[in-house]
Amino acid sequence: MVTLKLKMKCLKNDADEWNDRYEETILELHKKNSLSPVEMSSSFPDCEIISAKVPVKCLRCGHMFVADAEIADEQTTELRDMGLEIQRVIEYEGKCPKCGNHVSFEIYIWEYPPGFLEEIEVDHSKGVDFV
Ligand SMILES: [Zn+2]
Repeated sequence: MVTLKLKMKCLKNDADEWNDRYEETILELHKKNSLSPVEMSSSFPDCEIISAKVPVKCLRCGHMFVADAEIADEQTTELRDMGLEIQRVIEYEGKCPKCGNHVSFEIYIWEYPPGFLEEIEVDHSKGVDFV
């Protein structure tokens, strides 16, 4: 099981004023050939994912570390009757803190309708495995 920690920016109605607040949520994923959410019911209305902490293992030296990955891209598509589908791309590019091995990965998250997790897919990863 892979556990992602998502950081989100959420709207909060505070005394008739809308203020930003930050929340963290845990997303558990099964690891087979790819990653897939344990529960598809995850939802976070009024929140927007801004970054993710992803536990990985360096394929060269075996060192385990947490990659701090940012949302690098966001696209919306107009879909059917429930409105927009949002695709967010979590991207990481860095080095293993122990051996300097170059590592990178991209994770795609789809929300439909916005705030409701639809699908997660690892687009590619280089030099690391998800743990
Ligand atoms: Zn390493």
